[in-house]
Amino acid sequence: MDFETTIGLEVHMQIKTKSKVFCECSTEFGAEPNTHICVICTSQPGAIPILNRKAVEAVVKTGLALGFTINKQCTFARKQYFYPDIPKDYQITQSEPPLCSKGKLAIKIDGQEKIINITRIHLEEDAGKLIHEIGSRKLDYSLLDLNRASVGLMELVTEPEISSADEAVVFLNELRDIVRYLGASDCSMEEGKMRCDVNVSVRPKGQKELGTRVEIKNMNTISGIHAAIVYESQRQIEVLSSGGKLVQETRLWEDEEGITKSMRSKEGALDYRYFPEPDLVPFDLTDEFIENLRKELPELPKVKEARFIKEYGLSEYDAHYLTSSRDIADYYEQALDAIASSQKISVGNAAKPIANWISTELGGKLNADNKEIKDSPVSSENIADLVSQILAGTISGKIAKTVFEEMYNTAKDPQTIIKEKGLVQISDENALSKICDEAISESAKAVTEYKSGKERAIGSIVGLVMKKSKGQANPQLVNKILAEKLKF
Ligand code: ADP
Ligand code: ZN
Ligand code: MG
Repeated sequence: MDFETTIGLEVHMQIKTKSKVFCECSTEFGAEPNTHICVICTSQPGAIPILNRKAVEAVVKTGLALGFTINKQCTFARKQYFYPDIPKDYQITQSEPPLCSKGKLAIKIDGQEKIINITRIHLEEDAGKLIHEIGSRKLDYSLLDLNRASVGLMELVTEPEISSADEAVVFLNELRDIVRYLGASDCSMEEGKMRCDVNVSVRPKGQKELGTRVEIKNMNTISGIHAAIVYESQRQIEVLSSGGKLVQETRLWEDEEGITKSMRSKEGALDYRYFPEPDLVPFDLTDEFIENLRKELPELPKVKEARFIKEYGLSEYDAHYLTSSRDIADYYEQALDAIASSQKISVGNAAKPIANWISTELGGKLNADNKEIKDSPVSSENIADLVSQILAGTISGKIAKTVFEEMYNTAKDPQTIIKEKGLVQISDENALSKICDEAISESAKAVTEYKSGKERAIGSIVGLVMKKSKGQANPQLVNKILAEKLKF
């Protein structure tokens, strides 16, 4: 029998605000344990939560960007549970309505667009963190760090409409790009700022009802999510194929073993006994609040990518790379602005080579050094100027690589480096003519071949000229001069 897989994702993203969602403590990552805490986020009896307006803004912005209906009524609820990492034993979250209902995200699968509907996004508080080991030493007790307690989270829940591990990965990457553009979350999985519960079920192909779902909790790497979905759907298919039955349960992904393990049977909503949070009075968002956020929405990655291709004639690869973060896109367009204001060459001519220098040379170096573009030693003006120097014929593309290397290492501007190192391209015909003569007299074999009709033989003579000129000869001119000299 043939089976198909169905996946629904619950994505938790830590909201990027200076302070926590219900108190004024800092959200800074990596601080000494229990240094960003107060009576509110440590759950002291009688402490009263105060809502962070910026956190609401981040959730609404995300909702607007993904085509959600924004529910003006903002209410909070207590979700009861034995939380070892929330001393008050309930989490403040939203039940009905969430801030955002019914959105969607279009993803590209095998060149085809597929819409994934998203049920809701709601605002809630994060839990603290239990620590079971210090360094590599496993503890036989647990420690509690409450720095993360009450940091704002948005939880986004998709409809069960994702049909493979690959689709889930594309969805998550796309979502992360958008949320980062909005500045609503850093979504860094390494820092636990994006975590995912993955719901997986299988059913015989053609069957209408969905199969029994298994929830895999707290996944925090994209590769883990992919592997867990592949493993879990295969496991379920095997159970069903051998006549077994599946139970709705929560499982954990064991990364080292590459398997999922049962953790507990799934709790139902009733178990949580949600009730309205008495300390946070419901209120209505104003139209003005929502419309102002709508106006602040930035151009989103996919739209920007299409514009870069159309406006600057970039390849899909370059456009995709340049729009992979807002900082890179801004850097690129700042470089183009520099070209426009210097008025030496046209933006049309510079757009592609600049894109190329950023995506290959600069991107490669930053990547190797684990640096972000905002820490690039090469400024956008300087990379623009480097490309101007190439297009104006001052330096060859090859010398430009040497110049770039120096720019990256010293943060100096290209013209200074070209002057200091005497790297200006030799375009003086007399000077080049002399070097060409030398090269010809040392290349008897290539000359004979060339004269007997093998045109490619000129390549080695050009190479020799370049070597003699330490790479500084203007290659177009050298080709022209050699062709003339070797005519008869
Ligand atoms: P809970 O908190 O109980 O897990 P949620 O409504 O927050 O409930 O999330 C349920 C998730 O499970 C959603 O992403 C939904 O799309 C997904 N889901 C529901 N039924 C199935 C199913 N049969 N197969 C796969 N995913 C499912
Ligand atoms: Zn606090
Ligand atoms: Mg769930």
